[in-house]
Amino acid sequence: MKIINRAVNVILLCTILCITGCSQSQKTDQTTGGEKPAVSSDSSNAAGSEEPAVSYVQMLDYNKDLTRAQKDDNYRTTYEIFVYSFCDSDGDGIGDLQGIVSELDYIEDLGFDALWLTPVHPSSTYHKYDVDDYYAIDPAFGTMEDYETLLKECHDRGIRVYMDLVLNHTSDDNAWFAAASEYLHKLPSGSEPDTSDCKYLDYYNFSRESSDGYAPLLGTDWYYEARFWSEMPDLNLSSEAVRGEIRDILAFWLGKGVDGFRLDAVTYYIYADPDANVEFLRFLTEAGRSIRPDCYFVGEAWTDRNTIAQLYASGIDSLFDFPFSGNEGFIANIINGTYKASDYVKGMLLAQEAYSSANPDYVDAPFYTNHDMGRSAGYYAADEGPVTKMAYAMSLFMTGNSFVYYGEEIGMKGAGKDENKRAPMYWSDDPDDPDMCAGPPDMDEFPMKFPSVAEQMKDNLSLLTWFREVIRVRNTFPAIARGTTEGVDSLSDDNVAAFIRRDPENGDLLIVMNLRADTAVKEMTGAVSAADGVDSAGIDRGLTLAAVLNTGEEDITYEQGVLTLPGYSIAVFTLDNIQ
Ligand code: CA
Repeated sequence: MKIINRAVNVILLCTILCITGCSQSQKTDQTTGGEKPAVSSDSSNAAGSEEPAVSYVQMLDYNKDLTRAQKDDNYRTTYEIFVYSFCDSDGDGIGDLQGIVSELDYIEDLGFDALWLTPVHPSSTYHKYDVDDYYAIDPAFGTMEDYETLLKECHDRGIRVYMDLVLNHTSDDNAWFAAASEYLHKLPSGSEPDTSDCKYLDYYNFSRESSDGYAPLLGTDWYYEARFWSEMPDLNLSSEAVRGEIRDILAFWLGKGVDGFRLDAVTYYIYADPDANVEFLRFLTEAGRSIRPDCYFVGEAWTDRNTIAQLYASGIDSLFDFPFSGNEGFIANIINGTYKASDYVKGMLLAQEAYSSANPDYVDAPFYTNHDMGRSAGYYAADEGPVTKMAYAMSLFMTGNSFVYYGEEIGMKGAGKDENKRAPMYWSDDPDDPDMCAGPPDMDEFPMKFPSVAEQMKDNLSLLTWFREVIRVRNTFPAIARGTTEGVDSLSDDNVAAFIRRDPENGDLLIVMNLRADTAVKEMTGAVSAADGVDSAGIDRGLTLAAVLNTGEEDITYEQGVLTLPGYSIAVFTLDNIQ
């Protein structure tokens, strides 16, 4: 039921937009995603419902004819779903796979074309980052059939599905560890273990020595490597037997139709041995591609740019771009004024240089927050929306496969203990809303800063509307995700970041972002020429203001070669006449 209500809100928004903003007939399907047949019959209902004043926002009119460029590659916009907390389909308070299926309209309407689901394998924890069985679905989340349904429904919409693959460690309840543990418990004191009697001994790192990062195997005089937690024994990823298991796991899920894998904790794979980690990542990516040539991998390496660059030498497609993320990352430091706006471009250039030199085919994986980080709405207490909006646009205007953590599109709050970072998706204020999850055990009670999805759907100035528009622009101009970055120093300063996305196949873009509250005015004539190596004479004619993104009600203008950018707004130019 609720899906239809949301769709009605979308149609209502569209109807009002057409009244207030559109002077000519236009198609509305791309603006709203409201082409779904369930919606049209409800238009009379929409007209009669209560409505707040609707703001005129230039971008919703100016960008209305933009259409998605269909691309079948790894340059995606991916939605990260913490499965436990997203959408509950059966009333037990726990998010599940059928719940996700029921929200695919919502996800597709926002423009996402890939999903990363946190682990779905059986596990006794709510987060499931400790796997009991790599070949099954946790019953709390659903069945294998549900997972297959999710894959099919996503693929029918052109949405790819990435499985979270936790290979650094298993659960101590995993049958592999249980077998090894049982063997060691029965081993007579003083005897040497024999892997020919129990092959699973080789699956983990057992030792008679106590050392840092090792936990005691209670009831024996043995220890085992467990870097994160005693109930998460580290796998021995140097073992050929373990690698054989991993090949089988990849083949099983790729056979189901999974499109790729998000790899947990890759810097821990083989502890304190970066070269061995690169070798293991190379094994892993090659194993995946030998089964399915376009199998995609993105790795979690929570570390600095140079270490990430070293890991790219493995040939892995993507590694999360941690230096740009979080409350103390590059984006946050720029948007809060610690760094200059122009440093955004410098940071992208440094990443591009470092990563491309290690792997020319790398696909950057920018993100702003994830399930291990405090949510971005808590970063700027005084912000009423524009700062959070621009920070996310900075992430979504980076090249590669850009990831957004569920709930960030409505500015959900959540910080402190991990459970708070994984709060229930805030669908509505209705206490009887059947989709709402209960949230992780031990989560604190705290109020949200911004309204629910249901409320933001009706607001042209909401974070949700902003996300939809930013992603739509990203999906319209392939160079945003696929081009290479060139700085435009003549337009960049403390407040404004300007850069070209060079993309010979899809067309170059000039992107100008005002990352401050004050209006910025830029003389564009000739401004691009220095960076572009082109005579200034043709520049002005070559620039077409192709898309605008406003966080407020003031328009962006481009007249007689002068660009006026209100605070926290973005202009996207095509450079049609410039090669
Ligand atoms: Ca459920």
